Amino acid sequence: MSPKPGHRTIVAIRIVENRNGKPGKNVVYHFPMRNPLSPPTGSARRLRWLLALPKLGIVLLLAAMLSLLWLLQHNEAEEERTALIKDVLWLEQNLRFHLNGNEEQLQQLAVDLASQPEPAATFRTRAAHMLKTRPEIAQLLWLDAQRQAIDEMPSGSLPEHGIESPIPPIAEKYFEVASRLGKPVYSDPYFASSGRAHMALLAPVISERRLTGMLVVIYPLDALLANLVPWWFTEKYRVAIVDDNDVQFATKTNIEGSTSQTYQIPLEPPGYGLKLKVSSYPSPGNYLQRLLTVAIIVLGAGVFWSLWVVRDLMKKRSQAEEALRAEHAFRTAMEDSLTVGMRARDLEGRITYVNPAFCKITGFSSEELVGRTPPMPYWIPEQLEETYAIHRTVLAGNAPPDGFEITFRRKNGERFQALIYEARLIDGNGHHTGWMASVLDITERKAAEELARLQQEQLQFTARLVTMGEMASTLAHELNQPLAAIASYNTGCLNLLERPDCRPADIQPALQKLGVQAQRAGRIIRRVHDFVRKSEPKRAPCALGDVIEDCLGFVEADARKNQVRIECTIPQLPPIPADRLMLEQVLLNLIRNGMEAMATTPAKARLLRIDIELGASELRISVTDQGCGISPDIRDKLFAAFFTTKPEGMGVGLSICRSIIEFHRGRLWADDNLRSPTGSGTIFTFTLPLEAA
Ligand code: ADP
Repeated sequence: MSPKPGHRTIVAIRIVENRNGKPGKNVVYHFPMRNPLSPPTGSARRLRWLLALPKLGIVLLLAAMLSLLWLLQHNEAEEERTALIKDVLWLEQNLRFHLNGNEEQLQQLAVDLASQPEPAATFRTRAAHMLKTRPEIAQLLWLDAQRQAIDEMPSGSLPEHGIESPIPPIAEKYFEVASRLGKPVYSDPYFASSGRAHMALLAPVISERRLTGMLVVIYPLDALLANLVPWWFTEKYRVAIVDDNDVQFATKTNIEGSTSQTYQIPLEPPGYGLKLKVSSYPSPGNYLQRLLTVAIIVLGAGVFWSLWVVRDLMKKRSQAEEALRAEHAFRTAMEDSLTVGMRARDLEGRITYVNPAFCKITGFSSEELVGRTPPMPYWIPEQLEETYAIHRTVLAGNAPPDGFEITFRRKNGERFQALIYEARLIDGNGHHTGWMASVLDITERKAAEELARLQQEQLQFTARLVTMGEMASTLAHELNQPLAAIASYNTGCLNLLERPDCRPADIQPALQKLGVQAQRAGRIIRRVHDFVRKSEPKRAPCALGDVIEDCLGFVEADARKNQVRIECTIPQLPPIPADRLMLEQVLLNLIRNGMEAMATTPAKARLLRIDIELGASELRISVTDQGCGISPDIRDKLFAAFFTTKPEGMGVGLSICRSIIEFHRGRLWADDNLRSPTGSGTIFTFTLPLEAA
């Protein structure tokens, strides 16, 4: 399978299948994994869209709300301005009405002063009345034509500008204007020494077309505002009298703070560029609106921020999901590819999980197994008790760590050998939740091992036959001796019987000797028979001394023929658990190899020694020769099957010896005989445990 673009591939997995750790199958799997650089998948693109939509919605909502607020504010400002203009117009009208009224009254007084018989009293009465009803007037003066004060109200309080001139200097020039025009005239506004701004109204007193006097009304501008602007007006507005240069002469308000809108209107009379400047204060509604705007913006930002956080979270979550999916796919692929059966059980022994390999091995489906409690369908019915016992051992946590073998049956009834390793199942929180078993079908391996064992046995048997064949001529020679003796004893007996004086007592010794020889021949034949007998290997207590003696009996003739001396002292030995026949085969092989190695050794030095050492836990048997020795280049191959340096050799002897000794849980090795007088020789040593394992 070739990797697709935008994906990267893993993983090479080695699955070790057998318990010896011998290499199993190497399997390479390609798993699709998301590459961070690859273009986003469909779901990621959809997620991005889904996240963008609420953001767009919120932006639009914010824009709509802000526009609405702006519109409201705009309308309100418009309304405010309209109300301001209306109020200002009303105020201006009110002021004009008042001032015109004052002007008319003053004019009437001037006419009355010219025509009444007692002008002084008239002035007093009317001026007092005017001052009382018109609080905006601070002072009322009556001057003669020479600008000298005739009377003033309030009486005794001359104007602040000084006693030399009863009218303010700025009003002086308007004296002329008023007398010339013959009608009331307003002066420019001016600041008195107290800092207060004032304004004067001058009305000429004309009698018979001649100026006889002048009436002057002094208005302090702040008093004008204080008395003519109603209280409710100053609750909403700040009213000021300013000139063209925005110099402020008087002001009235009840509220502190900044103003929002301003409207100016000329103040007439008196004119001269005087203006009424009215500024409105922002209404409390305005503050609320602003607060609302700020709140909307803050809330919008908050929503945006939370969306951002959610987007980040969702991104991370989608990445985690993607990784989880890949991980899951990887695990599933790995699980499906395993050839080792996996089975999980809870603490009560109920199956909670089986992998496909386990199902394949047993033939049962996952649905048939998961949730089952013992006895399991794959248990052998006739071995229920034993299997229950193993089951209980596992649940008690005493399963052998090296695994155990058990026979199970498949769904079709077929039996199979399983090798099971049990381990604790620990969950993510570190709690022991059950048992996990890996199950190997070792039926084939077992069959192969059995076959190998049988072949090894066959080989051993063949080797014994070969040994026998090789020894056949010497055995025949050996057998010949007792047979020849029997024949001669027999002839002797017959000859004796032919004699007339023959007595049974004469024949008896010969017959006894004949019997001994016959037994000897019988022993030789039995030994041969025993040696080549085919039997199952079995370990039983046996006396090593007897085994060695038997072997020596076998090789005695060969040794004589080859002029080899065999030295052997057998100490007192306990019986050891061994297969007698197998030990005989080992000893015979080592002795014969030693004798053959000494073929070129001078006849005098042909000595073979068998030593037995009794240790605390094992016996150590060594066969020492003074033969040709083993050259270093063949030392490593010595125990390999079919290795031989002899033209007639089979090369299986030492290999069989080693497997026999290992079967007895002992060791076999070769050393150089360093003490040999010939300078060469070999010592083959093997050990045998005293106790059965
Ligand atoms: P075979 O005797 O049929 O050759 P073995 O497995 O018994 O088979 O021996 C393998 C080889 O080991 C022999 O061919 C020989 O070269 C060497 N060998 C065995 N025993 C001795 C010994 N005592 N001294 C020297 N060489 C030996």
